[in-house]
Amino acid sequence: MRFSRMHLPTLKEVPSEAEVISHRLMLRAGMIRRLAAGIYSYLPLGLLALRNVEEIIRQEMNRAGAQEVLLPAVQPAELWQESERWDFYGKELLRIRDRHQRDYCFGPTHEEVITDLIRHEVRSYRQLPLNLYQIQTKFRDEIRPRFGLMRGREFIMKDAYSFDVDDAAAGLSYQAMRDAYTRIFSRCGLNFRAVEADSGAIGGSFSHEFVVLADSGEDAVASCQSCDYAANVEKAESQFIAVRVTPPDPAVAAPLEVATPDCESIEAVAAFFGVTPDATIKSIIFESDLGFCMVIVPGDREVNEIKVKTALGAEWLEILAPARVADELGLPVGYLGPLNVSIPLLVDRQVPQLGEIICGANRAGFHLQGVYWGRDFRSSQIADLVQVRAGDFCPRCGSLLQIDRGIEVGHIFKLGTKYSEKLKATFLDQEGQERLLVMGCYGIGVGRTVAAAIEQNYDENGICFPYAIAPFKVALLNLDLKSEEVTAYCESLYLELQNRGISVIYDDRNERPGVKFKDADLIGVPLRLTLGRKGYKRGVLEARRRRGSINEELPLDDWAPLWSLLAELAADD
Ligand code: ATP
Ligand code: MG
Repeated sequence: MRFSRMHLPTLKEVPSEAEVISHRLMLRAGMIRRLAAGIYSYLPLGLLALRNVEEIIRQEMNRAGAQEVLLPAVQPAELWQESERWDFYGKELLRIRDRHQRDYCFGPTHEEVITDLIRHEVRSYRQLPLNLYQIQTKFRDEIRPRFGLMRGREFIMKDAYSFDVDDAAAGLSYQAMRDAYTRIFSRCGLNFRAVEADSGAIGGSFSHEFVVLADSGEDAVASCQSCDYAANVEKAESQFIAVRVTPPDPAVAAPLEVATPDCESIEAVAAFFGVTPDATIKSIIFESDLGFCMVIVPGDREVNEIKVKTALGAEWLEILAPARVADELGLPVGYLGPLNVSIPLLVDRQVPQLGEIICGANRAGFHLQGVYWGRDFRSSQIADLVQVRAGDFCPRCGSLLQIDRGIEVGHIFKLGTKYSEKLKATFLDQEGQERLLVMGCYGIGVGRTVAAAIEQNYDENGICFPYAIAPFKVALLNLDLKSEEVTAYCESLYLELQNRGISVIYDDRNERPGVKFKDADLIGVPLRLTLGRKGYKRGVLEARRRRGSINEELPLDDWAPLWSLLAELAADD
């Protein structure tokens, strides 16, 4: 591509709306433009990067035996009612109505559509296993679309769905996808981890997320410093170590009520009593489809809502709004505690280990001191309810866990028969018995992967694309357009690079060298080749690797060193 002909509107200024580095750089490098909240156009450079990721995905999916299809984006409501997700998926689902007043949605995911397709196509075990995938635009009406392509409302996803005869076979399909994902993200040049994850709105029993490590990531990953245990903190567990607890002093029969004006936070209460937060407890009221419930965790820990939901066996769950705590339960927010409450208590497993504790008195302005589990309150519902943190013990080997931030770029799920049951997708087994198809589903955010690659690969001058996904592998800068020799040489090298299938941007613009250098750096081209009159006289082409800013000189009359340099760059990532 000739720079002079390319629509590559690079920006000098940092756009104010962009909070994270990848979003800023994608706008500045002229890769994307915003149309509306969470809805973006891909300009030529952005689309080239996206297509490179798609190509790697296609190659690895095909190699793993999956077949590409293209399913409709618009999906009838009836299918979503059949799976019971029409209501469950909530406000993220973009619902639309046609001229006949029939309801549809714009697909946020395609379990329903693919299961419907397959229930009409697959009759016999002989047609299995089957894995179909597509690369397509999804829509999810995210509450907080942000960070450009990272959390869009409209975005491009690769989604795949596998169908098998039983759990064991489905396990093999899952493993094949896990391996394919590992190859895909490795080939994209990313530093990532496959971590155990929660199944969320997609459902199913088992899942792994592929997380690109980056400080700006919205996800937190717990991983063991010794073994290979790694899990999203939403799901991560830790080893529980029981300690000997000092029993209450028999001379003191009951807790002491203490006036604690303006002590509505754990920090304020701990400061008031001169203790650390772990000598207090947090009491949080949740509402779920099963009713109200008070959850008790140590004062220095964060409650993990997913663990609470699992422990209760609830379909949905949310923290009860403070106004409703007061109005409907008559309890004072900021002074809650587990003593004498009429709703069920769900207690974190560490609470009985705390010994003497301080908690709210359920009376505005008062706390209780000298409270003991067992003597003053108890519950039969005890579970692991807290978010793990750095320094907790690995559930597998007992070593220390560390927490890193990351970006979820892929997610694979064992669905089991969740959708085949709802949509009655069956096949006949070898004995002629009708059985439910066992499914898996596998997603990759294509745009998010490009954004994540930038989060991991940039410097103060711009993007440093990994070679495999770089829109252009080579930037050829002609610094003396007026020199016929220089221009003729550049034109012939430009032609040769194209002939060899090496994606190249030839900067033939009538601009100062500084402008050309800046743009080549900003758009992240891995190798920059520069030629001007001086170099031409000396018989050298100046080569500069974007990563590490390594310069070297290549001979003008022999291109072999250039091809080996490019091969080296391709192999490095
Ligand atoms: P998240 O927790 O980030 O919302 P998710 O668990 O809802 O993701 P999945 O349903 O597993 O996502 O979708 C598969 C993949 O699609 C994700 O791993 C992610 O890469 C991508 N993806 C999901 N939501 C978005 C979005 N709003 N914008 C861009 N990519 C997305
Ligand atoms: Mg989501």
